[in-house]
Amino acid sequence: MFWTKTVSVDQIKQHLQDLQDLKSNAHLVDMQSVQAIIVEKGHVLITLEVDPAKASNLEETRQAIEKSVRSIKAVQSAQVILTADKKEPPQIQTIPQRPKAILPNVKNIIAVASGKGGVGKSTVAANLAVALAAQGQKVGKKVGLLDADIYGPSVPSLFGLRGQKPSHDDQDQLIPLQAHGVSVMSMGFLVAEETPMVWRGPMAQSALLQMLRDVAWGDLDILVIDMPPGTGDIQLTLAQKVSLAGAIIVSTPQDLALLDAVKAIEMFRKVSVPILGIVENMSLFCCPNCGQTTSIFGTDGARKRAEEMNIPFLGTLPLDPNLRMASDQGVPLSSELFDALALKILQSLEHKQKPPPKIIIE
Ligand code: ADP
Repeated sequence: MFWTKTVSVDQIKQHLQDLQDLKSNAHLVDMQSVQAIIVEKGHVLITLEVDPAKASNLEETRQAIEKSVRSIKAVQSAQVILTADKKEPPQIQTIPQRPKAILPNVKNIIAVASGKGGVGKSTVAANLAVALAAQGQKVGKKVGLLDADIYGPSVPSLFGLRGQKPSHDDQDQLIPLQAHGVSVMSMGFLVAEETPMVWRGPMAQSALLQMLRDVAWGDLDILVIDMPPGTGDIQLTLAQKVSLAGAIIVSTPQDLALLDAVKAIEMFRKVSVPILGIVENMSLFCCPNCGQTTSIFGTDGARKRAEEMNIPFLGTLPLDPNLRMASDQGVPLSSELFDALALKILQSLEHKQKPPPKIIIE
């Protein structure tokens, strides 16, 4: 057959909007609760965020929605997943209260982000966390790394922890794994590697929230978050939900990558997260045979962009075969470059923590 009818996300959205309960004639789906609709070659996945207390009563509704979506022509399979909405019930109070803090025992949370994938964001996040831990050990500072890259969690592999599963403590909290002096938690420990990317999104989104709320990090001085690449809803939610001390943007000097990096910077600025600086990765390649240096993606693009945007430039990492090999072998590379980067980050965090000078009026 040469002709196949397809179904779109908009069609599914419209169908959910039109879906009525036959008995009560009320809408079956509260559109506010629709977290994601994913359509891939006629296979539909819908996630609905619901109050966990009501989840068991909603099973019948869930099945009814599934059945109804399956009845749409061109839909080959439909799956509806209910995810828990853990929002606190509204409280009537005279004094407005701040929402419960996520990660209250972590002093500084730093996001490592990039506008696009493949620019070395995870490599920088992992090696920076190890360098911070090494420097922190001298003064008793503890460092953690949260791999929130739902599209391609690479921290298990970078730390030689592939295939390991974290255990739970007696309060049902996930216990981070320990490697190279860092407490590590990754999406890769929770979502199977072979899970297709298209399904991974919504599942990983709820796993991501679980990692933010239900991990026994203990007292940490610094938590580095390896963010998903890009500037979509997940990144924005993460930047809003977590109280970030700052963000580091990783980019290659290539124009296209830089344009995306600027979008990432703008996203953080939108939610008032300070930009700690830009790291330019893979800028120079030094041929191990002839010693000649080549700038593969151009030179100094990120440095210039940082200057234009009035953002600190944190340094340049050359394209280094040793770094790639070390990453593949799960052994973070100890290098002067990452030590220098860690030092700059520690200094800028310290600078931020200094109380403002007291003004004494005599
Ligand atoms: P991202 O997190 O941005 O998707 P990764 O950190 O996973 O990117 O890096 C992508 C690939 O490039 C990996 O194989 C990594 O080992 C390699 N890589 C990253 N930075 C460098 C570098 N400076 N030199 C050599 N290889 C690098």
